[in-house]
Amino acid sequence: MSSGGEHDTGPIQPISADEVDWTDETDVIVVGLGCAGACAAISAAESGLDVIALERMAAGGGTSAMSGGLIYLGGGTATQVAAGVTDDVESMQTFLAAVLGLPIDDPRLAAYCAGSVEHHDWLVDHGLEIVPEVWPEPGLEPPGEQGLVYSGGEDTLPFAAIAAPAPRAHIAKVPGAGGARLMEVLLAAVRRVADEPRPGEGTLRVRTSARADRLVVDGEGRVVGLVGRVDGEPVAIAARRGVVLAAGGFAFHDALVDQHVPQVNRVSFKLGTDADDGWALRVGTGVGGALVNMAQAEVALPITPPRRLVQGVVVDGQGRRFINEDAYYGHVGHRALFEHDGHAFLIVDEPRHVPVNFAGFRAAWVCETYEELEAELGLPTGSLTTTMTAYNAAAADGHDPEFHKAPEFVVPLTEGPFGAYDLRVEHAIYAAFPLGGLAIDVDGRVLDDAGSAVPGLFAVGRSASSMAREWYCSGISLGEGTFTGRRAGAALAAG
Ligand SMILES: Cc1cc2nc3c(=O)[nH]c(=O)nc-3n(C[C@H](O)[C@H](O)[C@H](O)COP(=O)(O)OP(=O)(O)OC[C@H]3O[C@@H](n4cnc5c(N)ncnc54)[C@H](O)[C@@H]3O)c2cc1C
Repeated sequence: MSSGGEHDTGPIQPISADEVDWTDETDVIVVGLGCAGACAAISAAESGLDVIALERMAAGGGTSAMSGGLIYLGGGTATQVAAGVTDDVESMQTFLAAVLGLPIDDPRLAAYCAGSVEHHDWLVDHGLEIVPEVWPEPGLEPPGEQGLVYSGGEDTLPFAAIAAPAPRAHIAKVPGAGGARLMEVLLAAVRRVADEPRPGEGTLRVRTSARADRLVVDGEGRVVGLVGRVDGEPVAIAARRGVVLAAGGFAFHDALVDQHVPQVNRVSFKLGTDADDGWALRVGTGVGGALVNMAQAEVALPITPPRRLVQGVVVDGQGRRFINEDAYYGHVGHRALFEHDGHAFLIVDEPRHVPVNFAGFRAAWVCETYEELEAELGLPTGSLTTTMTAYNAAAADGHDPEFHKAPEFVVPLTEGPFGAYDLRVEHAIYAAFPLGGLAIDVDGRVLDDAGSAVPGLFAVGRSASSMAREWYCSGISLGEGTFTGRRAGAALAAG
């Protein structure tokens, strides 16, 4: 039996209810108060259930509070409508199916898209303010209080040809990153239910510095509670309806990352907190839950802003292009790391005139000719020269026949000197986190290998497998975490 040491990667076995002396009882236990756990706790308590929420830190927030705060919502939300953005559920679903690598009729995807307008309104009703204004620079958080951005390549090829583009990442009314504000709002809603329950609502008790350790199962294998520590004191809490694992992912369990998605251990900037230690995945598998999507990760390689930089050309260690440079930075990073061994360069001409990027990033090599530059970069002889000759010939007519970069960014790079930005994984900012987790259904019920629900157990947020199976799209983590968290709470109330 694995006990949960930091190098252990296997299942953490549950304890039998026969061996436990309960210290407390409730309908639902929610483990973790990030975005997903907060929504599960609010939703369950607002539906009339008694809830205990355990948060191992001194306060809730988790990775969600550190995040950019982009929440992927669409299909014609009130914010989109007020900003003059046209969108519909079908376009959203078509785009997400293509970008996430899901069948169009995937049940989680279909429910997410169909419920997106209502979920937006629920977040707004619970205090989230969003300014109905589009920030035109894709990907990153707006510098002002604009509330909408393109966040997954909707407006660039190939996706712009697949579905009508719309900005769908919604962000709280704050300058810059909105994750802290999102969590302020959700934790205020948790406190409201806890302190001033309305008629028909259940009780919500929040325990901080409270760490869940092991699940407890009955003779039939149903999850009936858990044991842990609150302020260092042992507790054993019975859950009449079920336990919701909302305890984050496994980005900071190095051995688990090495085992499943080793590329993530190569990046300079792993996204998460120490609490992303794989605990939820390991207790979930201990009671029969299946892990899926474990080899997948979000990998951001933010070259812009400024957008002007995508006039450059990205090449791999063979001096070959592999993507349209105006693609969403999550796709540039994913392909560079997963398909090109994290070996890439951004080639520009006249580097002195190229603006410095947001991270102070400058050309690391400058040479008079492409021949000299490819030698400096250690690329195969003739490789970069061939790539740039072909690129420049087409760019002279404003075309990019190979990767279809938007014409506004296609200019011949013929004026020396020529510069190269170092996009190798050891030197550039690659920001990554794994997307694997427990298999779940639309309501967050944990599923076993056969697709059957593990009785009494739910997983939401990064404890669960993401819908992102092939590519990522910024905003989907907070989107699916809050959405499925709510559904889990409601499903538990429905029995
Ligand atoms: C810099 C950065 C920017 C990002 N930007 C975006 C973005 O703009 N949009 C987007 O969609 N995603 C973004 N992400 C990813 C996103 O933030 C996470 O995937 C998401 O917040 C996970 O939410 P969660 O509720 O599952 O987990 P968390 O928010 O991490 O919450 C889990 C909670 O569980 C607690 N916990 C863990 N173990 C236990 C235990 N045993 N007992 C009790 N409590 C426990 C933790 O302390 C934590 O508070 C970003 C991430 C980072 C780091």
